[in-house]
Amino acid sequence: RAKLSGRGSSRVFEAGMDTVMQARQALKLRLRDALTKNQFRLFYQPLVDVATGRVDSFEALLRWQHPERGLLAPSEFIPAAEETGWIVAIGRWALQEACREAMKWPSTIGVAVNLSAIQFRFATLTADVIGALEQSGLPPNRLELEVTETLLIQDNDTNTSILESLSELGVRIALDDFGTGYSSLSYLRSFRFDKIKIDRSLITTLTEPPDSDAVMNAIVGLGRNLAIATTAEGIETDEQFALVRAYGCTQAQGFLFSEPVPASGVSGLLERLGSR
Ligand code: C2E
Ligand code: MG
Ligand code: MG
Ligand code: MG
Repeated sequence: RAKLSGRGSSRVFEAGMDTVMQARQALKLRLRDALTKNQFRLFYQPLVDVATGRVDSFEALLRWQHPERGLLAPSEFIPAAEETGWIVAIGRWALQEACREAMKWPSTIGVAVNLSAIQFRFATLTADVIGALEQSGLPPNRLELEVTETLLIQDNDTNTSILESLSELGVRIALDDFGTGYSSLSYLRSFRFDKIKIDRSLITTLTEPPDSDAVMNAIVGLGRNLAIATTAEGIETDEQFALVRAYGCTQAQGFLFSEPVPASGVSGLLERLGSR
């Protein structure tokens, strides 16, 4: 029977760590090939207009069709892609792919693409966005870019001016996952966002007043006063949908309407939910 302390167990622990590190290292090396071998996919999840229940746009969500491990979610590989810098090339691919796909949809339907803060450290971001729009022919007002507050924590001035130059292209900029982490109202002053996406964690506690209730009211009220659209993320039940409608959110997204689907599922969703 192995002892729980002493040299023996610590060696076992180290061996375990080695395996974790090796797996992470292997993942990083595979990321390089994944792009050239066309293993990334975009799934699309509808964002519906709260007033009409119809689809306004789709958010493009990255997946990795891994040859051995199957379809991987972003949490399983985006951290490694950010550490290695591969997120820049992957993010460029996602922009191109999302814009190209959106050209197949009705012209009233927009597409939202997530950007990593790492992409803002490279001078190519604005050129990548322009390139994706030009190559696809997608009008800029149909593209929305989602960023998180980490961007504004890290290098506020530089990133704010990049956001401004993106905004000048005519694309919309959304602040994703608002209400988590260090969410500060000052971020809403440093840049004029077009949309605030209220994080799922605030939605899941909505039915447990009173605190989330006050936070929700504050965020939606702020959005209304600043004329910024508000999207409630992670709507799973009719009850939650009724609540965010009552709060005055303008848009909703979540499994209640649909999980993210492959590109081939978009037309079916537009038929089922209706389009703007
Ligand atoms: P996000 O941008 O906040 O995307 C929403 C996430 O919540 C998605 O997870 C979506 O599948 C999930 N979701 C939507 N509705 C519901 C719901 O009703 N219930 C629950 N439980 N979950 C819901 P996913 O696809 O795993 O993406 C996770 C995160 O990965 C995204 O969060 C985003 O930050 C990041 N991500 C996704 N695609 C990209 C990309 O192309 N580039 C970058 N840089 N990040 C991406
Ligand atoms: Mg997002
Ligand atoms: Mg989000
Ligand atoms: Mg979120």
